[in-house]
Amino acid sequence: MGVEPYPLRETEIQPRLRVRRALPASGRRLVGPWCFLDHFGPLEIGAGRGIQLGPHPHIGLQTVTWLFQGEILHRDSLGSEQLIRPRQLNIMTAGRGIAHSEETPAHHGDTVHGLQMWLALPREHAAASPAFDHFDALPTREVGGSQVTVAVGRWCDKESPAPVYSPAVALEIRLDAGEPCPLPLDPDYEHALLPLHGDVRFHDVTLTPGALWYFDRGRRWIELYAPTGALAFLVGGERFAERPILWWNFVASDLPTIRRAREDWEHGRRFGAVNGASAARVAAPPLR
Ligand code: MN
Repeated sequence: MGVEPYPLRETEIQPRLRVRRALPASGRRLVGPWCFLDHFGPLEIGAGRGIQLGPHPHIGLQTVTWLFQGEILHRDSLGSEQLIRPRQLNIMTAGRGIAHSEETPAHHGDTVHGLQMWLALPREHAAASPAFDHFDALPTREVGGSQVTVAVGRWCDKESPAPVYSPAVALEIRLDAGEPCPLPLDPDYEHALLPLHGDVRFHDVTLTPGALWYFDRGRRWIELYAPTGALAFLVGGERFAERPILWWNFVASDLPTIRRAREDWEHGRRFGAVNGASAARVAAPPLR
């Protein structure tokens, strides 16, 4: 039925914090401008410290944080300090350079579960001014008994207020048990569905949570069906005309730009300070 699975890869982004990386995948670097997609948790925090991502830099991208459970405290070098909760949106435009931290706050629930995604900035916006935006509530729409929340972009008659620099969409999809859910799509976009729990059926294919499921351009809609209910996330966008380089926390069209950003971070230039973070500053790995 023309849907291609890209298996998720497990990786550890801090001690005891394992994530499932959906993008970049082997053979699939981008879905529209989406160049990075990590699924973390559900992580039982208990007596542990939860998420402790200390100050680190970004260039050339926007970070998008979306939670299903729990809370994360964001701080950045613009002076932003923002708690994010489920179905809210944090979107940070790195542009020419920003530093941020993301941590489990002192008062927290038992579990944290969510997605960390990056949108590559097109070359003409790669050096944009850094910015941070938070949205408390995003537009939602019922499709039968299923519920779709528009995190990024425009879908049907709903539009997310999130600022983006190339055509893109991101939807949280809560599929009702046993009722087909027809989802209209923009045929100019490519899309990928990440099932988070519950099997999702698409025609005779079962889209299981262990993979990112890619749909090429030209589809006006897809019909999903979850026999026992499911939670999934869809990303998409116009095919990105460039092949950006991803290295560590940087996205750029050329290696010298990445090398300069690394040098500036290591020498305490450009990115500014993140005040109030508990976790330690993250050093850049060597660039050979
Ligand atoms: Mn980050």
